[in-house]
Amino acid sequence: MRHNFGAGPCILPQEVFKQASQAVLDFKDGLSILEISHRTPEFEAVVAEAVKLAKELLNVPEGYSVLFLQGGASLQFAMVPMNLLNEGQTASYLETGVWANKAIKEVKNFGKANVVASSKEANFTYIPKDFTIPEDSAYFHFTSNNTIYGTELLTVPVTKVPVVCDMSSDIMSRVIDVSQYDLIYAGAQKNIGPAGATVVIVKDEILGKTTNKIPSMLDYRQHIEGGSMYNTPPVFAIYVAMLNLRWLKSKGGVAEIEKENIAKANALYTEIDRNPLFKGTCAVEDRSRMNVCFVMENPELEKPFLKFAEENGMEGIKGHRSVGGFRASIYNALPITSVHALVELMQEFAEKNQK
Ligand code: PLP
Repeated sequence: MRHNFGAGPCILPQEVFKQASQAVLDFKDGLSILEISHRTPEFEAVVAEAVKLAKELLNVPEGYSVLFLQGGASLQFAMVPMNLLNEGQTASYLETGVWANKAIKEVKNFGKANVVASSKEANFTYIPKDFTIPEDSAYFHFTSNNTIYGTELLTVPVTKVPVVCDMSSDIMSRVIDVSQYDLIYAGAQKNIGPAGATVVIVKDEILGKTTNKIPSMLDYRQHIEGGSMYNTPPVFAIYVAMLNLRWLKSKGGVAEIEKENIAKANALYTEIDRNPLFKGTCAVEDRSRMNVCFVMENPELEKPFLKFAEENGMEGIKGHRSVGGFRASIYNALPITSVHALVELMQEFAEKNQK
């Protein structure tokens, strides 16, 4: 049995992959989901259901639009300032990792970025808490889950300015209060669906205030008007996202999956803290429930443990090159039985390797 702890792209339940593959062969009257027109009522219904499910699962209030776009979260790094920042204005950013850093870099084309705090000096192993967000910022941007380093900010910093969040790697994993945010974006490929779609949840009233000249494809208002079909949408990615959101709803929704995610994270961190061979890499209070990063007290044991884990069915636990060690990504689709299997291997390895 394989256990997929990979960081993505696209860790989804087997049953979703099965339904998706069937639709490639025959979605309607022998035609593939890939070949029917995206303007057919059947595909329009797919987009409508995907949007409805996203709104329902996250309890999105009135006055917000949900979009399925392309270009990944990386395009949002630029689209956000392009749509929300006027020349001469400053936007505030919390620097908690490479993704936040890339977002900051894009601001200079439209205005100024003010980094309110950074944990760069500690290789992003914690989330800075002590910072102020100037009230004249056009918006405040933060990354809720830092996929590479394994830190997560579960609360929204208090501020009067509009809040923008890159939620790529923890959206749909926990209950959020969307009304605390003005814009949320997420590359779909962790807990939503395949790479190729990007979900944006935007408060309508924050748009249309910039004097920037925005190309149509990069203007949120064009996509709202076009119902996520301003141009040919990523049909397969949206279809599979819709299937996966149906699966999430059938599991009891975000509140239920959050309970499971907490149980999975607790099980793994408990073993990391208990087992003398392993240690976590991040500040305990900032530990991510999605990406669990750890190393070994004796670095010489890391290769043998990786080999042992891989031989026993563990996929994708090698840490990101900028952190080293191990990263077990425990997204929604990973069952708790896989976490238990990893914990057992850690215990078995410790028994064999402890002096
Ligand atoms: N933001 C976060 C938190 C991510 O984890 C990633 C990718 O893993 C990105 C942004 C970049 O997303 P994309 O590859 O969709 O541009």
